[in-house]
Amino acid sequence: MKESIKQILQNSKLSKLDTKILLGHILGFSKVELVTCNDYQLNEEQYDSYLELYDKCLHGMPIAYILGYKEFYSHKFRVTPDTLIPRPETELLVDMVLQLAKPGDRILDLGTGSGCIAISCKLENKMLDITATDMYAQTLMVAKDNAITLGAEIRFIQSDWFNNIDGIYDIIVSNPPYIVGDDDHLRALAFEPQHALTDFADGMSNIKKIITTAQRHLQGYLLLEHGYDQGRATLGLMQNNGYKNVRTIKDYAGQDRITLGKIG
Ligand code: GLN
Repeated sequence: MKESIKQILQNSKLSKLDTKILLGHILGFSKVELVTCNDYQLNEEQYDSYLELYDKCLHGMPIAYILGYKEFYSHKFRVTPDTLIPRPETELLVDMVLQLAKPGDRILDLGTGSGCIAISCKLENKMLDITATDMYAQTLMVAKDNAITLGAEIRFIQSDWFNNIDGIYDIIVSNPPYIVGDDDHLRALAFEPQHALTDFADGMSNIKKIITTAQRHLQGYLLLEHGYDQGRATLGLMQNNGYKNVRTIKDYAGQDRITLGKIG
């Protein structure tokens, strides 16, 4: 059965925007072309592809996984089910690192996922010496691939937090899994790697581990992304572990999102 763009948009149970994204992806049409050519009839192959993606989307698969990429800091990052989908609020972490970094600084990004933080920092400031880690080989492959595609020179190390890390860094940054294990929110994020979202406990265990271990590898700032309600606890942990100038910063939605502190 043949259907036109117009008919598909009328019959879709997805939002108009998501439906248009799927159609644009399959047909290679721009947003404008989807409107001006809305009587275009999909051939059988195109329609079958549409139905397949439509079904996945309807079952909750994020558009980023369907398209295979997500935009972050104005760059296109490849994402797979082995990587968390970069969130817009994490761009603030990149802004903060770039503000604090001096030319030649050694930066460590722990649990890099798609590589979005490390790569965005490097692309903005080529003078930074950046190392990125992830615990999972598969995830690290995606990050490496993104670094090559986007032309960012990064050192990648497979490591469970600091286990394979030695040396001293000027800035350590991380967006660790911080969602509480029994948070309802996780069900809506079922397509993403759960180990990248939650510690399967109180949400603070990775944050705590990083804060207490980073001291041995740091002569400068530690910056951590955390949940909107974890600012005070993260701030307390940093203060109790000898970090100075500790402060929490709100994201662009007005939620506590990043806490930073200084060693040395
Ligand atoms: N900010 C993400 C969310 O709430 C979680 C990211 C993370 O756990 N690091 O969906």
